[in-house]
Amino acid sequence: MSSPSIVWLRDDLRLADNPALRAAIDRDEPVIVLYVLDEESPGIRPLGGAARWWLHHSLTSLGERLAERGARLVLRRGPADRVVKETVTDAAAGAVFWNRRYGGPEREVDAALKAALREDGVEVSSFAGSVLFEPWTVKTGAGTHFSVFTPFWRACLGLPAPRAPLPEPREIAGVRHPIPSDELADWGLLPTDPDWAGGLREAWEPGEPAGRRRLREFLAHDLDGYGRARDEPSAGATSLLSPRLRWGEVSPFTVWHEAVEQGRGARFLSELGWREFAWHTLFHSPDLATTNLRREFDAFPWPRLNPAQLDAWQRGRTGVALVDAGMHELWETGYMHNRVRMVAASFLVKNLLVDWRRGEQWFWDTLVDADAANNPFNWQWVAGSGADAAPYFRIFNPDLQAKKFDADGHYVRRWAPEHLSDEPPEPIVDLGETRKAALAAYDVVKRAPRG
Ligand code: FAD
Repeated sequence: MSSPSIVWLRDDLRLADNPALRAAIDRDEPVIVLYVLDEESPGIRPLGGAARWWLHHSLTSLGERLAERGARLVLRRGPADRVVKETVTDAAAGAVFWNRRYGGPEREVDAALKAALREDGVEVSSFAGSVLFEPWTVKTGAGTHFSVFTPFWRACLGLPAPRAPLPEPREIAGVRHPIPSDELADWGLLPTDPDWAGGLREAWEPGEPAGRRRLREFLAHDLDGYGRARDEPSAGATSLLSPRLRWGEVSPFTVWHEAVEQGRGARFLSELGWREFAWHTLFHSPDLATTNLRREFDAFPWPRLNPAQLDAWQRGRTGVALVDAGMHELWETGYMHNRVRMVAASFLVKNLLVDWRRGEQWFWDTLVDADAANNPFNWQWVAGSGADAAPYFRIFNPDLQAKKFDADGHYVRRWAPEHLSDEPPEPIVDLGETRKAALAAYDVVKRAPRG
């Protein structure tokens, strides 16, 4: 009688450098690879539309690659604690392996499941696969966690280097009698009516092989110019690895080691550091997407929402060129360049005085890299309420940002050409006036007790 091993994949949709998969293979029993679409466990945030699109295609690619190696991807839907237990029973599995998650509700699910399965005599092991440094390993001299990036990253770099990535398995012994699985198509992850994903299909090829290719191309051709050109949205100078890292198609350990091998990747690696910092911040503040990290921002006097202005921002009809271009890029491709994300977010929060949580939710719905840590962390950074945040009073002027980072107008020409016509759209607000209003609102925060 065999006692199969279950690998429960979550945000780690890859075969290479997957410690949970490796442990299951090393156990020398048939392997079942399980993915659970969990939209029911308390507190788990439902995926946005662009994320669902990516997930569908990434799972398709993963299923094919597993089949080529002898294993099958089992898909099930429902609250993870119930579904994983049912799968263990159906398969008469003897062990379950997974790579750890760091969000609050996810940790609760995983901890309870680990305890329950062990009580039933099932072996359970979890591994570090999604961050280079686990949150409890990075501490200040006083034993607390960091709230400023530079000392945080210095402390990380002082720790033992991240482990070497694990090789991709060539063969995986699957179970003889396949256990029931949902059909991916029945999950309805793809948009149908209307099908808005045409631009996403053009821009991206989800899945591990395309992710690994992109990493190699970036390191071979773009790493040298990264520091110089990363802020220019039309330069194509950044890695475009964010959805790969979000879905775990490429492991941060692989990115780290391959970049270090180049011997000149420190600037790029520090961006991975920001990703680590965001995840550590989420670990220590699980309600990062809903609650100001700096609680004095709770006193911010957000005016009543003007739905027409929010709509104009979402649709890229603000009349401000760089903001409109960014919002069009986002809608079309599920991605926006980092510099433009900062400018578009700042415009919403500071010129339109819309609560950062509304912008965060829109990005959550429309980004293919929508990330439970990076997204709220960066929104709070822009709003001034976050960890090591941009000071509130430093308000981006989107026109000056465009002059500086899109001097030849390539980016605006590509994504919002109407701004370069003879009759460009008028801005929906006056940048100078709204800047003054934002600073006046911020005065209230300055007077509030520090949180
Ligand atoms: P590169 O410049 O090549 O960077 C390499 C990797 O480092 C990225 O793939 C990403 O994983 C990480 N990284 C880079 N910048 C940051 C950062 N500021 N914070 C955290 N990690 C970073 N990034 C997401 O992955 N998901 C999000 O949901 C997300 N939302 C954002 C919202 C706002 C308002 C802002 C200002 C930024 C947001 N970012 C988010 C961070 C950043 O914009 C993207 O990671 C970056 O643009 C992705 O492009 P790239 O992979 O080419 O980046």
